[in-house]
Amino acid sequence: MNEIRPPRHPEKAHRPDNPVPRKPEWIRVKAPTSPEYHETRRLMRRLNLATVCEEAACPNIGECWKQKHATVMILGSVCTRACAFCNVATGRPDQLDPHEPEHVAEAVAELGLRHVVVTSVDRDDLEDGGAMQFVRVIEALRARAPATTIEILTPDFLKKPGAIEMVVAARPDVFNHNLETVPRLYPSIRPGARYFHSLRLLARVKEIDPSIFTKSGLMVGLGESDGEVHQVMDDLRSAEVDFLTIGQYLQPTPKHAAIERFVTPAAFAELERMAYGKGFLMVSASPLTRSSHHAGEDFARLRAARQARSDAAD
Ligand code: SF4
Repeated sequence: MNEIRPPRHPEKAHRPDNPVPRKPEWIRVKAPTSPEYHETRRLMRRLNLATVCEEAACPNIGECWKQKHATVMILGSVCTRACAFCNVATGRPDQLDPHEPEHVAEAVAELGLRHVVVTSVDRDDLEDGGAMQFVRVIEALRARAPATTIEILTPDFLKKPGAIEMVVAARPDVFNHNLETVPRLYPSIRPGARYFHSLRLLARVKEIDPSIFTKSGLMVGLGESDGEVHQVMDDLRSAEVDFLTIGQYLQPTPKHAAIERFVTPAAFAELERMAYGKGFLMVSASPLTRSSHHAGEDFARLRAARQARSDAAD
């Protein structure tokens, strides 16, 4: 019997279509076909796990899953927010799966990951925003795969007092929270979020535990100006964020926010140069940069960059 699935984006159904433009030649990616891709997919289905790679229709999935680098999405696959750029389904969220933490740990052990990125949907319906499930996942990973370093990419925990502190106390190696866009575009692109709250979250992580690396990401192509991007870089540095990622926004469907521009590889290189000039320890800026792309290699470089900076200060 065919399963009847609810529409992924019911809140966007009434919107006029924004035609999806053809991608420039520097954004072409290959369709995922490798045996490792199919193996990773089967493993995720067997353990009933969602991945942001699939849910967000990430263009890098063929490359990442060939190396078995998948980013697990916890707290179910349905989000309580409805951001204009995001392909994750919106609606009434799933019941929390009590086996999720052990399943994430099992997947990481089976994939043999040295570094894992765990993200989630937004769960405004839960009293702690899902913070405790992040803690349980981190604990399960530490128990099952103690050598694996852990990066979390969290929602903003808006109006969830104590949530950030709870997650920081579990001591992930990297705490990532994406600002996604410039403050002027928040009302249309991230309507449920608040720019200064997200910035404050990142600053708060560092205040509580300066040893945790902090990371944030931006998309370009949503209508921001370069000047606004530079301002966000300054804001992130004032929150002592270590690592900045910048990638091209790609429009998942005609109902999503329109692509306002394709930023060239040369312009990305210029953004990267500018960001390093502002003092980030690490910057990744390219058309296909995503926060979890090459996260393992980047983590090793991040650690080395911190060590080099501290050696230079001695
Ligand atoms: S870049 Fe991240 S979200 Fe995209 S496929 Fe790779 S791991 Fe998944």
